[in-house]
Amino acid sequence: CGIVGYVGAQSALDVVIAGLKRLEYRGYDSAGVAVLADGGLAAAKKAGKLVNLEKALVDRPLPSGSTGIGHTRWATHGGPTDANAHPHLDNAGRVAVVHNGIIENFAALRAELEERGHALASETDTEVVAHLLAEAYSSTEDLAEAMRQVCRRLEGAFTLVAVHADEPDVVVGARRNSPLVVGVGEGESFLASDVAAFIAHTRSAIELGQDQVVELRRDGVSVTDFDGAPAQVRSYHVDWDA
Ligand code: GLU
Repeated sequence: CGIVGYVGAQSALDVVIAGLKRLEYRGYDSAGVAVLADGGLAAAKKAGKLVNLEKALVDRPLPSGSTGIGHTRWATHGGPTDANAHPHLDNAGRVAVVHNGIIENFAALRAELEERGHALASETDTEVVAHLLAEAYSSTEDLAEAMRQVCRRLEGAFTLVAVHADEPDVVVGARRNSPLVVGVGEGESFLASDVAAFIAHTRSAIELGQDQVVELRRDGVSVTDFDGAPAQVRSYHVDWDA
């Protein structure tokens, strides 16, 4: 129900959790985060309120890193359990993805992945995306390009945000029939399902268009359509107080 992504110089975990809190009013049943640190990817997720996740992070702290993503879930496929909470990872634990919306053709994609030997750990429609991204990444070695390839295979409504341990300074987002807004800061970039998640840090925003992919880096963002053609971006200043 809420998504936040961050790349910059701050603690990604702090920025992401604070952003998720700003989106709490929308309602949700589970929450999770993933952080890139020390050449790897670390994730934590919990059913229930954000406070449950925060308690879990006190018991088992994540390494600190400056690239991260977070999610609050409103379950549509699979009950509100820890296993079904986002982020979802591929089998090697190198890719993490969060998702708002519904992947309509997930059952066919899941059967195809299982046929190729992937072991799926949840009942969600979302998890197929993590496995498809891992496969696409092994040939593209470019997360934004992997995301474009995967999005072309998806049907339904989605805001997707992903990170890969091999690209520690990149967050990639994509959207179709579901909102995604980018925040451009000084040496840091944000994305979220709602600007409320990042206006404490920047009021310079870009609204992603339909069927677009954004690659977020510390020093800027680039936006394409699902075929890789550079897209026109609509920048604006957020001048209301949230
Ligand atoms: N369909 C996904 C799930 O049930 C995402 C739900 C959401 O938008 O939070 O896990």
